[in-house]
Amino acid sequence: MTSEGTDKILKPESQPGDASDQAIRPQRLDDFTGQNHVKEVLQIAIESAKRRGEALDHVLLSGPPGLGKTTLAHIIALEMQSAISVSSGPVIERPGDLAAILTPLRHQDLLFIDEIHRIAPVVEETLYPAMEDYRIDVMIGEGASARSIQLHLERFTLVGATTRTGLLGSPFRDRFGILLRLHLYEPADLTTIILRSAAILQIPITPDGAAEIAKRSRGTPRIANRLLRRVRDYAFVKGDGTITASLADQALILLGVDQLGLDEIDRMVLQTIAYVFNGGPVGLKTLAISIGEDIKTIEDVHEPFLIQSGFIKRTPQGREVTPAGKKHIESSTMKRDIVYMQI
Ligand code: ADP
Repeated sequence: MTSEGTDKILKPESQPGDASDQAIRPQRLDDFTGQNHVKEVLQIAIESAKRRGEALDHVLLSGPPGLGKTTLAHIIALEMQSAISVSSGPVIERPGDLAAILTPLRHQDLLFIDEIHRIAPVVEETLYPAMEDYRIDVMIGEGASARSIQLHLERFTLVGATTRTGLLGSPFRDRFGILLRLHLYEPADLTTIILRSAAILQIPITPDGAAEIAKRSRGTPRIANRLLRRVRDYAFVKGDGTITASLADQALILLGVDQLGLDEIDRMVLQTIAYVFNGGPVGLKTLAISIGEDIKTIEDVHEPFLIQSGFIKRTPQGREVTPAGKKHIESSTMKRDIVYMQI
């Protein structure tokens, strides 16, 4: 990051991450598996903007980490044949930082702001006229001699990413023309993603092997790709290099990922609610402290998956474990992380 809080202007083809991450990151909408509704909305909006020669409306992408928000932002840039500039909410501290990011943008360029819900309120207010009227007011000087000057901007597209739409106030949210929510992926889509990544990384894998990893990837492509690499290592050392379903199962057990894809923290969440708080309800903060995990991680990463799996439910009083959740931990073969905590 530069002092202005932005990475250099990136050409769409040059993306962050290590080389193999970059290789498996989809480049075009057609390579992006799943999220069909999101893709269709984007495809139509991009096509229309291109035909009219206008900038795409501002886009807000929301959903848990690892579902493809950053990937989609780069895909939009590539499909629009625009340059993309990348920043993140917490690093844009002052309106001046924002002005430094916005003023170099050209017609149809993209500005991607990750974690946009963490942007400072004073910066958010400066962003409003930039999004609506493509102008920005900046204060020059201090005290009695301070004056405001107005800078005109080219028609750019802001793509914001947030883990939860609810974290953005409605005045901010309403300024985005395209609001898209990404959902956890179905195992079939994750299987396709894993087979694609394996082909690019030249990892021998059977369709059953891919399906086994997919089923245990918590609905998240980033986790699917990570588990694929770890299972590849296991297959390489313990097998003949090919990932089969039974080999994937052995590797995943070793990695602490159970049959339904719950990891150690997921199981600790369930066990803590079930055994320490007698099934709940328990407040998120108390739960996070008991487990020794960050609240945000529990709320953004573990809770959506456990709720989708039907293992916990959110009530006005707090989180409760469901009968299915209790049954899962009782039948889990992975008892080693059972919490013996006293409160
Ligand atoms: P987010 O910004 O939502 O945290 P990313 O865009 O960084 O997620 O995605 C994480 C990784 O998962 C990327 O490196 C990409 O390779 C992979 N990925 C995400 N969504 C898809 C998808 N729909 N198809 C294929 N790979 C995907």
